[in-house]
Amino acid sequence: MTHKVASVLGRFPIRTHVLVWFFVLTSLCILNAKQPNIVIIYTDDHAQHAVSAYGSQINSTPNIDALAREGMRFTQSFVGNSICGPCRATLLTGLHSHANGQTSNRAKFRDELPTFAKSLQAAGYATAVFGKWHISTKPNGFDYWAIKKGSSFNANFETSTGVETSVGHCTDTITQRSLDWIEEKKDGPFMVWISHSASHRTWEPPIRHLNKYTNQIIPEPGDLFDNYSGKNSGAKTAQMRVSRDLFPAYDLKLPVTGEGILDRAASSQLAKMTLEQRSAWDQAFGPRNAKFAQLKLEGDDLTRWNYQRYIKNYLRSVAGLDDSVGKVREFLEGHALDQNTIVIYTSDQGFFLGDHGWYDKRWMYEESLRTPLIVHWPGVTEPSSTCEALVQNVDMAPTFMHMPGLDAPASMHGESLVPFLRGKSPDNWRDAIYYHYQMVEPANRTAHRVARHYGIRTRRHKLIFFYDLKTWELYDLAIDPDESLNLYNDPGSASIKARLVKQLYDLRSKYGDRM
Ligand code: CA
Repeated sequence: MTHKVASVLGRFPIRTHVLVWFFVLTSLCILNAKQPNIVIIYTDDHAQHAVSAYGSQINSTPNIDALAREGMRFTQSFVGNSICGPCRATLLTGLHSHANGQTSNRAKFRDELPTFAKSLQAAGYATAVFGKWHISTKPNGFDYWAIKKGSSFNANFETSTGVETSVGHCTDTITQRSLDWIEEKKDGPFMVWISHSASHRTWEPPIRHLNKYTNQIIPEPGDLFDNYSGKNSGAKTAQMRVSRDLFPAYDLKLPVTGEGILDRAASSQLAKMTLEQRSAWDQAFGPRNAKFAQLKLEGDDLTRWNYQRYIKNYLRSVAGLDDSVGKVREFLEGHALDQNTIVIYTSDQGFFLGDHGWYDKRWMYEESLRTPLIVHWPGVTEPSSTCEALVQNVDMAPTFMHMPGLDAPASMHGESLVPFLRGKSPDNWRDAIYYHYQMVEPANRTAHRVARHYGIRTRRHKLIFFYDLKTWELYDLAIDPDESLNLYNDPGSASIKARLVKQLYDLRSKYGDRM
């Protein structure tokens, strides 16, 4: 544009030059000022049912709730492949896993694909990502990146120029690094992806929250002792049970014995702590572990203890994430950036919080399929509004591009959520979401052994095909929200089954999933 202006101006006097350039530069500044900044607060394994704005029965998340009170909460928000690396690749590309290459945590990402980060960067946004990455290629489309490596305390950060050390809990160091970068780029427009990891296993909470919930009993889910009798998905052989598959030192913070790979990993995590951190850690867990040793629990009592120990550390980690949301928003307000900055809160996927007796994710069942999604866009989203449409993580990239008015490529599977954010309901919105979990794990003690599956979820029903097992499940979520009654072979469900099977294969064809 500036070249064209210069060539036309060659024929006019100098005063005209000054006036025209003043007009062009002022217009560019106004255009930039109107482009909203985008802050994506992205957490790891943070389940919808551990967010009080979503009705959590087990914790309170005041800062996330405040965001929901000022913005829009998506009540039917899902993922397409409930596992860390694939969800991040989908967030970037707007594509389901089979199309972006990152089908599992170890698969190869197709780095040449369009992403929202590349588009915003090309449109003049300053772009950065801080924290967990977990995609098989290095960040692309980001002016700056600092990727967390190692455990929660005093993690290293890999950048394009080398590895940097840090002191503190990763939730706090990721937040602070992000805010320092925003401070430098505050003239905007900027997009920052704040990618937290703390609610991911092994649930090492920030020191300030180590004693939260200590004297409370967290309510147990009704199916903590699920016997999987209604399931033919291989649920019984999956290794993610709270009763037997949490590792004593690694997951439950019991004393390290030095036996086994995960026990040694727990030992190296403790070794990363400063003397001060370690002292606070031992003061918190030491007496509780001594009491546990005296109790000599077995059977259901041991499962209940495991649940309390697991869920409390998970929720303490979530409390740190909620602090981060508050800190980011306070910073934006303090720097007069709050009125022109969109803040998004979402997690890569959901998680089992003792539901079906499990921890972890992977399954297409509700607890891991759902993910929180809250958007505050000042002057656009109606306070305390909700959107009931079926939305999915493939919609994120088109939405982030659409926010400043960029068009997403037609090749992306997702659709922009901007019309919903503006209070409109687009015609012909999808009536089903697609899912495909396709990670093959080694058959060892530390693998979770979830059979590969694909399926669809409509407003009311869910149909899943476990193709390695050649088994199907069908649930009517209106009468069976806990998915305990498989209706696939129920004669009364024959017609809905036939309709859903057709709809599933139509969706596979639409998205080109032949895997
Ligand atoms: Ca995750």
